[in-house]
Parts: sequence; structure tokens; C-alpha cells
Amino acid sequence: MLKVKNIETYYGNVKVLDKVSVEVKENEVVTIIGANGAGKTTLLKSIMNLVSPREGEVLFLDEKINKIETEKIVSRGISLVPEGRQVFPSLTVFENIQLGAFLRYRKSKPDEIKKDFDFIYNLFPVLKERTNQQAGTLSGGEQQMLAIGRGLMSKPKLLLLDEPSMGLAPGLIKEIFIALRRLHQEGLTILLVEQDANIALSLADRGYVLQTGKVVLTDSGENLIKNKLVKEIYFGKSI
Ligand code: ATP
Repeated sequence: MLKVKNIETYYGNVKVLDKVSVEVKENEVVTIIGANGAGKTTLLKSIMNLVSPREGEVLFLDEKINKIETEKIVSRGISLVPEGRQVFPSLTVFENIQLGAFLRYRKSKPDEIKKDFDFIYNLFPVLKERTNQQAGTLSGGEQQMLAIGRGLMSKPKLLLLDEPSMGLAPGLIKEIFIALRRLHQEGLTILLVEQDANIALSLADRGYVLQTGKVVLTDSGENLIKNKLVKEIYFGKSI
């Protein structure tokens, strides 16, 4: 479904991604794990053309997308749930979710949009309870749920998630990951970036380890959990 081939992305003269290749097949959950500053967010931004890779290419459903505008990439079926949620704080929960459907409003019937709202409210019932509340007053976990709900409103085929567990208590992380597992079971393909390797690998079919802008390891989620390097670096275990 998604093929990132040998991309090189720079900020100014600093190369942040060095010949990175990643593949996500239909209905897979793939994770990118890596420490702070490894280039995980930059990889997602490169896929969405929020930063433009200087070399290499990005293919989605066999078409090259690395030179097209971000909103066209969203229309083709990729949605990004950004790092730090980035909800619109002064808008209500309802309005934030509605904004996620912005590109569909001209084409979709109102009852289709209503059905998607119902789906999101069923996935995260707390959002329904808080539908008229300003998003800035939600807890961190509720804001993460809202960011995922907003991301789903463009009806993506592939959902990119940037560190959904960041700053959340274990109970909330579990709740979010149960919802992600449900989305996967219902057919959504997911590319998940995480610093928390343990939680990411518990969900992922496959994973890539990114270190200072390079893919240093790729394997099944199951094997990566057992891998020496991953244990040393990400679980703090010496061997
Ligand atoms: P984190 O887990 O801390 O978010 P990350 O793996 O997502 O880290 P990136 O945010 O992709 O890493 O950053 C990779 C490198 O690029 C870092 O060294 C960072 O300082 C640098 N960087 C990121 N954004 C910019 C920018 N807009 N301008 C200059 N350098 C940047």
C-alpha cells in the first residue's frame, strides 16, 4: 500500500533521514520505533509532504505522491494524527471532529458524515459526552482520542500516528491501543511511530528501528520484542 524508497530528508543542510525505506502492506500495523531525535516525525512528515524529501520516492497505492500537495495526499487516503495532538483548543469537540471531514464535505451526503460521527462516538464514548466542550479543556488522553477521531473523518485507508502514547498514564494508553486494535480489525492499515517500543510492538505486525536517521533493523513485531538490540536500547535491559 505504502512504499517509502530510499528517502533523504534535510532541514537546511542537515540530513535527518538517510536512505530510509519502509513498506506498509494493506491491513498491516507497522511501527517505527526509535529514540528522541531519530527522525520518526520527519519520516511521517516526509510521507505527507509536509517536508519534502530531496532524494528517493514515496508511493501510495502504486502512485508517486512525494511531489503532490498534502491535502491531495489526504484525499487519496492517508491521514496523519500528529505528535502532541494539535487539536484546536477554542473549538468544541464536535467542531474539531467536523474539521477532519473538511475535504469530504462537498462530496459526501450528510447522513454519511453523521454515520462517521456515530462511529467515532462509539469508539470513544467520552467524546460524545463532551461533544460541546472546548477541546482545550479536555485531558491529554481525551485530546488524543479527539485527534484520532478527527484523523478518521477523512476516511483514510492508511492512518499515520505520531506517538499516541506520549505523556499519558498507562490506563489511558491501554484504552487508546484497544481502540487502535479495533480499527485494525475493521480493516484500517496503520503506520505507528512510537518511543514506547513495548506498547508499539504489542500491536504491530512488523516494525522498523530508526537510529539517527537510518533504518538499522526490521523484523516482525514478535521478533523485535525479543531482539537484543531492541531490548538494550528501548527496554533498558542489559544482556
Ligand atoms: P521525538 O521522539 O523527540 O519527536 P523524532 O524521532 O520524531 O524525535 P524528529 O522530530 O523527526 O525526531 O527530529 C529528527 C531530527 O531533526 C532532530 O535532530 C531534530 O532536532 C531535527 N529537526 C526536526 N524538526 C526540525 C526543523 N523544523 N528544523 C530543524 N531541525 C529539525
